[in-house]
Amino acid sequence: MTTASIELQDALAARFLRYSAISSQSDASATVVPSSQGQWEFARLLAAELEEAKVEDVHLSDTCVLTARIPSTLPDGKTAPTIGFCTHLDTADSGLSPDVHARIVEHTGGDIHLGGDQWIRREEHPEIDAYVGQRILVTDGTSVLGADDKAGVASVMEAVVRLMSDPRPHPEVYLSFVPDEEIGLRGVQTMDLERFPVDWAYTLDCCELGEVVEATFNAAYATVVIEGVAAHPMSAYGVMVNPILVAHDLIGRFDPTQTPECTKDREGYIWVDAIHGDQSVTTIDVNIRDHDRGRFEQRKDEIRQVVEQVRTSHPRARIDVTFKDVYANLEDSKTSDNAVATQRLLDAMRAVGVEPIHRSMRGGTDGSWLSTQGIFTPNFFTGAHNFHSRCEFLPLPSLERSHNIVMELMRGVSS
Ligand SMILES: [Zn+2]
Repeated sequence: MTTASIELQDALAARFLRYSAISSQSDASATVVPSSQGQWEFARLLAAELEEAKVEDVHLSDTCVLTARIPSTLPDGKTAPTIGFCTHLDTADSGLSPDVHARIVEHTGGDIHLGGDQWIRREEHPEIDAYVGQRILVTDGTSVLGADDKAGVASVMEAVVRLMSDPRPHPEVYLSFVPDEEIGLRGVQTMDLERFPVDWAYTLDCCELGEVVEATFNAAYATVVIEGVAAHPMSAYGVMVNPILVAHDLIGRFDPTQTPECTKDREGYIWVDAIHGDQSVTTIDVNIRDHDRGRFEQRKDEIRQVVEQVRTSHPRARIDVTFKDVYANLEDSKTSDNAVATQRLLDAMRAVGVEPIHRSMRGGTDGSWLSTQGIFTPNFFTGAHNFHSRCEFLPLPSLERSHNIVMELMRGVSS
């Protein structure tokens, strides 16, 4: 490894450790954006660092969306597409400690001890073998690492600082850092897109070295509300309609093979992820996911049909179902005009010696929403593994490559 490479990895690691020390877990139960105070603290730190780097139009919105602009330094008369980067401020609530105590280990092979009785074991995580001999960021076993998405933020911020002091000409670049990605892309949906006037953008929000994501799920949720008829059990005969049992009947009618645990790759699913109720009212929360738009809409129809059947079987129960679309497959926003976004990304990856691995993400990114707003936004790797888990880890050489690609893209490869 060259001295420059070690120095760059050190700079990225220092940045990551500074960012991960701020607890910025989002909270799905909150009714405001951002959902947690820590995201404000993190956004203010980034805003100060952007100001210090002399980036222009640094703006923190009242929903904690941070945007900024790096002006073009191209010679007069030369133009190039304007690109943007979008990363998220929050980390996922996985039921672990909200406070992250990240550290660097030298991976010499075998299992990696995190802390206490927590390990990354080769048996469960054979992927660690690919990183023997590397420096790796890990947790102390009590929390997620939060490389999702602070690795993305660190990668972009380091590139910004380096670009601002680079005398070579580069095109205009826009930056956005958004809250509450992990709880249904709530933050990005509050972004003022006039502050992000780009031809296309990129997210850095997943996964191992080389991954490129141009396909995400279409996502919606359905809420089924069942009102029964309450009665004292002593006089319930012919009177009571128990909404909990109606819910049970309803859930039992879904195809048991079309669930997250029975599907993979580009197969979608219906996921009953919450049920809460009492003798009067029971509510069922259902997530609907599919890469294919047509099948996605069919899945909604299946739910409507099941509700209709249950209404017939339980005529005295009142059953309502509502649907809300959350995000769309970004693949459907790709056109012959914006396909250059992917081409530039693949060129940049090759320029830094990374072989692309194309993946259809079984989830969504902020780009899934931006793409529905006309900003095609593919995603590429930060290098981290095991998101949303205490076994999340981030090899520094992978983060370095991710950052190098950001640098190439900001400089305007092949422009
Ligand atoms: Zn993420």
